[in-house]
Amino acid sequence: MSQDQAFPPQQQNPPGTTDQMIPTPDHGETSYVGSEKLLGRKALVTGGDSGIGRAVAIAFAREGADVALSYLPEEEHDARATAEWVRGAGRQCALLPGDLRDEATARGVAHRAAGELGGLDVLVNNAGYQMARRESVADVTTEDLDRVFKTNLYALFWVTQAALEHMGEGGVIINNSSIQAYQPSTSLLDYASTKAAINNLTVNLAAELGPRGIRVNAVAPGPIWTPLQPATQPEEKITSFGTDTPLGRAGQPAEVAPAFVFLASPATASYVSGTVLGVTGGKPVF
Ligand code: NAD
Ligand code: MG
Repeated sequence: MSQDQAFPPQQQNPPGTTDQMIPTPDHGETSYVGSEKLLGRKALVTGGDSGIGRAVAIAFAREGADVALSYLPEEEHDARATAEWVRGAGRQCALLPGDLRDEATARGVAHRAAGELGGLDVLVNNAGYQMARRESVADVTTEDLDRVFKTNLYALFWVTQAALEHMGEGGVIINNSSIQAYQPSTSLLDYASTKAAINNLTVNLAAELGPRGIRVNAVAPGPIWTPLQPATQPEEKITSFGTDTPLGRAGQPAEVAPAFVFLASPATASYVSGTVLGVTGGKPVF
């Protein structure tokens, strides 16, 4: 790898796996230190097998939470690795494979999470999909639209609706948005529009659920080194990934997870609802 390259050239097929990534992302395995900010809480992290979801699962577990992970069946290997870290922190981990584009599966994941953990206090809507190997709006197929909108929006509605049947006062929902909601890339036209919708929904849901004592927020990451990137971006985007940020580099999943801990914990965010927290390496989120 030459010095001006952010990452070595590499490509994967969706959904992408951690093992194939060079270098291996940092999910906080050796660095995250918890302080009981989520003691006794029960959390569902969709897409919790890899990337930002794995870092969130590790951080939540070290803060004292039991964690359920949802993921695609072909991601079993990644999910088991994440579960080992959660259990290694002394917490319970429920593994819930299934394709969230299917309504019954999506609702079932939330119900099973609550069943297996004995309740549900925190929902992290983190599963997401993009495809950036296209040049123009003319290349966006109905198949593309179905995959992006079902994964990023329909599933988020279904999982949230089902999760709310189990959540009481003190419940927390955190959606994974993106810098793409604010500075959309032309190659991510459809994906970026789902992230703008997620921001809108976050604010609106916070208004509806406030009176029930349930807080709703979003995190908007900038470029983060996860399997999603080599699986959906062309090679030339990977080699320069993140270099266009003010900090001049991509972020690691471990650098995003603390924002989720902050928003999830009543110790730090009891009066924070209806907001989107940017973790972007310096790109503006307004
Ligand atoms: P990732 O590939 O590690 O995680 C995405 C996960 O989504 C996958 O592991 C998979 O389990 C899940 N998923 C996708 N389609 C699914 C489906 N049909 N059914 C069930 N699960 C499905 O990548 P990541 O970057 O950690 O992505 C997590 C979230 O972060 C996504 O919502 C993504 O849009 C968002 N995000 C990522 C970046 C980035 O640069 N990596 C930037 C902004 C936002
Ligand atoms: Mg994955």
